[in-house]
Amino acid sequence: MPKKGWKSLTLREETMNKLQKMWQTDLSRPRSQTFTSYVEDFLTSLVEREDRLRKYGFFMRFEGAGESHVTIFDNTKRKSVTVRIDSKGKALYCLEDDSSTCIHVGFCYAIDQVLKTLIAKGFKLPKESS
Ligand SMILES: [Zn+2]
Repeated sequence: MPKKGWKSLTLREETMNKLQKMWQTDLSRPRSQTFTSYVEDFLTSLVEREDRLRKYGFFMRFEGAGESHVTIFDNTKRKSVTVRIDSKGKALYCLEDDSSTCIHVGFCYAIDQVLKTLIAKGFKLPKESS
């Protein structure tokens, strides 16, 4: 029985194993943090992110992605914008702004499907130096 104010949730074993691996290998979490608390924080941040996307996502909308480009609809410009994925998957480049650091590129990095494409092409984020 979960303690007062909590409810339990059943997950597939595979999902649970992935979460446990995240918890075990996450060097940024407090060492004393329990697995339950870790997952609770993780899910809370996902829910908050989803809320923000629903609230503010209207500025931009993901339209689609191919091997070499991402199309975003920019509601402030009222047009579709193409962001190019370079052939080696090392960078994103916005054709609208001639930039690799504009808001469209930033938006692209937050799209799961785009990130998966980049990772599949061998893209690696620079490691944080600590
Ligand atoms: Zn742009």
